[in-house]
Amino acid sequence: MRKKIVAGNWKMNKTFDESRVLMNELKSKLNKDTASKVEVVICPPFLCIPAAKEILADTKIMYGAQNIHNRDDGAFTGEISASMLHAIGCEYVILGHSERRQYFNETNHLINFKVIKALEKGVKPILCVGETLEQREQGIEKKIVDEQITLCLKDVCAMDTDNLVIAYEPVWAIGTGKTASPEQAEEMHVEIRKSLENLYNATVAGRTRILYGGSMNDKNAKELLSMNNIDGGLIGGASLKADSFIAIIEAAK
Ligand code: PEP
Repeated sequence: MRKKIVAGNWKMNKTFDESRVLMNELKSKLNKDTASKVEVVICPPFLCIPAAKEILADTKIMYGAQNIHNRDDGAFTGEISASMLHAIGCEYVILGHSERRQYFNETNHLINFKVIKALEKGVKPILCVGETLEQREQGIEKKIVDEQITLCLKDVCAMDTDNLVIAYEPVWAIGTGKTASPEQAEEMHVEIRKSLENLYNATVAGRTRILYGGSMNDKNAKELLSMNNIDGGLIGGASLKADSFIAIIEAAK
């Protein structure tokens, strides 16, 4: 049985004080029973992680980050390492998000190094994959996503995949208000399981949690989350308001 995960990607939003307000609101409004049935994760900006450590300490809400550097430490001005995240209690890190691929030129090769580093340091990667609109129109979306999975998981052993979460995020659905239909998303999640089976085996394919991301909100979440192979959501815009994020978590229950 794959436990559902709802993860919030706050992106570059919220000051330290604003983040405290949202974290406190989540903490007070999230039903304890729901929090024990669904894994809830927030990924705020790095600066707000100390607030998460303090405010969420006595809750089941986990926290993570949105990026790491692929090296342990050293002369990499402005960067944050996986060990630093682990030391402050981050459970997860989002890797390979399409915005990092698009605006920061992250390649599958670099993302692969980051996935390996996160796993080595005890931080669970939420590995994002997904095709652009152009690639879907060309009918190559399955090939693109299979290639992303294969290259980003190079040299990751089957045992480590226990700590891996994948997020299917069609780029054309991120922040656009356009959502993949439940059937479109389900079809790609099944393809991702096939890729995992080819890379590893049926056990890994069957137990790995695959989230859907791309304009998921309190209105469409229930239908998407009712599909057999959709194990939760990676939520951008709708994770910035406690009520809409909680409604999605409730839909996952
Ligand atoms: C995301 O950035 O991972 C995302 C899914 O964003 P949104 O929900 O805003 O489309």
